[in-house]
Amino acid sequence: MSNTHVKHLVIAGGGTAGWMTAAAVSKLLPSSVKVTLVESDDIATVGVGEATIPPIRTFHKLLGIDELEFMQQTQATFKLGIEFSNWKAKGDAYIHSFGVTGKECWAGEFHHFYLRALKEAESSGATTASFGDYCYELQAAKHAKFLHTKQAPMNFAYHLDATAYAKYLRGFAEKNGIERIEGKIIAVEQDAETGNIQSLSLNNGQHVKGDFFIDCTGFRALLIDQALRSPYEDWSQWLFCDSAYAVQTHSHQAPLPYTKSIAHGAGWQWQIPLQHRVGNGLVFSSHFWDDKQALDTLISNLPGDPINEPRKIAFTPGVRPEAWRNNCLAIGLSSGFIEPLESTSIHLIMTSIVRFMRVFPFDGVMPSLVNEFNQKWQSEMLAIRDFIIMHYKVNQRNDSEFWRACQQMAVPDSLAHKLQLFEESARVFLDDGDIFRVDSWTQVLIGQGLIPRAYHRIADEMPDSEFENFLGGMLSTINHAVTKLPIHEAFLKHNKIMNTDI
Ligand code: FAD
Repeated sequence: MSNTHVKHLVIAGGGTAGWMTAAAVSKLLPSSVKVTLVESDDIATVGVGEATIPPIRTFHKLLGIDELEFMQQTQATFKLGIEFSNWKAKGDAYIHSFGVTGKECWAGEFHHFYLRALKEAESSGATTASFGDYCYELQAAKHAKFLHTKQAPMNFAYHLDATAYAKYLRGFAEKNGIERIEGKIIAVEQDAETGNIQSLSLNNGQHVKGDFFIDCTGFRALLIDQALRSPYEDWSQWLFCDSAYAVQTHSHQAPLPYTKSIAHGAGWQWQIPLQHRVGNGLVFSSHFWDDKQALDTLISNLPGDPINEPRKIAFTPGVRPEAWRNNCLAIGLSSGFIEPLESTSIHLIMTSIVRFMRVFPFDGVMPSLVNEFNQKWQSEMLAIRDFIIMHYKVNQRNDSEFWRACQQMAVPDSLAHKLQLFEESARVFLDDGDIFRVDSWTQVLIGQGLIPRAYHRIADEMPDSEFENFLGGMLSTINHAVTKLPIHEAFLKHNKIMNTDI
């Protein structure tokens, strides 16, 4: 491929992907590698992407980012999970939290014990606690509470203002010596023989040369697609949503420590509570709804007064299997996009950056490392794809064509296998690249109404009195702990994360 030693890295695009990459490489690469970022103020970023998942904290730790400063500057709030309303059936709601449900037991995973309790309650006619009652983070979210101390650790992520986050990371990267060039990329020059990218031509007449290029130009994918023609694999046969409207609203209540995902006739609506406003949007399938139906649904379900005009964003769910081709790596939307459900996209930016750092081509691009990178990238995307499809497939809604089509669709074999295992025996086995743990699979599967026909019989081995204490003790410990937690907003204000005047 290319034996050029990488001494000059060029990042094209300065959205969340571009500035996350710039911030990371500015911290991690030796100063002998020059880094330049090219972006155009005339081309807006996608402007969404405001909910994250917990590993973002590891990324911040790696960079040495101060949590207080970051949260103040990005108007961030804490996120303990996502509430799914109307997904299983209209009027139903459950939370997929970042916490562990129940506790590890000598015999097996907790959900088998829960299923025993469910079966016993069914035969005796008694009521039983819900699965989510056994999860600390989930209960804290439900009661809008939050605490973040070493003594009472919680698994959490953030809601953040996307534009402010890119700006914050830009400040971080520039302080660490990254050069930013303003200009619109109008052409990509390649070596006629190898196809390697040599430089980017800008509308101001500049030519930005480099040894290696990161394509962070979003859905435009100027380098990886328009120049290098790395193919895109379309997953819309399983993921029907291909459009979204996004709008911001004023806050009318204290920020909740979770994202809301509310299912509608042909898609779902998000609400992301920040300190100063709420990020909203509606993701829908253009095969089942036209723009007007989607927009009317969003507008009539907003939690507050709009700040801006709703903006339409169209996308094709899928992946670019060769995110790395020649001397170019696509990070962010240029490398693929599944859809916003479960907030995985910023996470994927982070994992791509970390993986790239591990194989950084100091001595030139080696095909074996490129293949390894692309393989890992694909398994990560496939595992997330299946987890997202599962939310749509396992539903009990009969009130719209969209939800019936989701129920009836043939899912990928890998997911069909997982669903069969769970339905028949309550077993969950994770795949390579699965970022969602067994807790996530069980919280969502049970939340969506899939109750397995059988469970691990080892759960029946626990004597009745011990079983009662095991479950009862857990419920009272969690209830007791949650009662003592502060309200999320009070925690934000007390810790000077949120201005007390708001
Ligand atoms: P962009 O933000 O589009 O940035 C592209 C950059 O390239 C811009 O700086 C632009 O100026 C520059 N550029 C483009 N063309 C040129 C050119 N010719 N010359 C110079 N510069 C150029 N992710 C999550 O993790 N959580 C979420 O909750 C979430 N919600 C989402 C909701 C929707 C509806 C969508 C579509 C995505 C969502 N995502 C979410 C994904 C998330 O928004 C993106 O992963 C993230 O914002 C990264 O985008 P990006 O930087 O790749 O692209």
